[in-house]
Amino acid sequence: MAGKPSIALIAHDQKKDDLADFAHRHEAVLAGWQIVATGTTGGRIQQACPSLSVQRMKSGPLGGDQQIGALIATGEIDMLIFFVDPLTAMPHDVDVKALMRLATVYDIPMALNRATAELMIAHATR
Ligand code: PGA
Repeated sequence: MAGKPSIALIAHDQKKDDLADFAHRHEAVLAGWQIVATGTTGGRIQQACPSLSVQRMKSGPLGGDQQIGALIATGEIDMLIFFVDPLTAMPHDVDVKALMRLATVYDIPMALNRATAELMIAHATR
């Protein structure tokens, strides 16, 4: 993935609307990034932001989070935004932890909520 820096976008359950809205509001900035997303999230972002090209992995529960983890491990992801839904029973908790671990190992910025994602995007545009 040479050229543009790459950003991975994932959202759980009720947070998908929030991430699609976030992407839409920052569509112009995201045009400067290669975008990778889990399957369903990627479809929602593509719908909200027709101008962007979103590379979609498998759906999270089918291994999409792990595919993104593999890209982090090979140095192909520069930033990760993962909107987890804290009001569900957290059935995907292991996926969140696995990506937190890899983001820590490879020292890439990772946002788990919108406030942090806004800070990261604001910084990325400077
Ligand atoms: P999805 O996967 O975007 O395919 O729903 C996200 C997840 O559950 O981690």
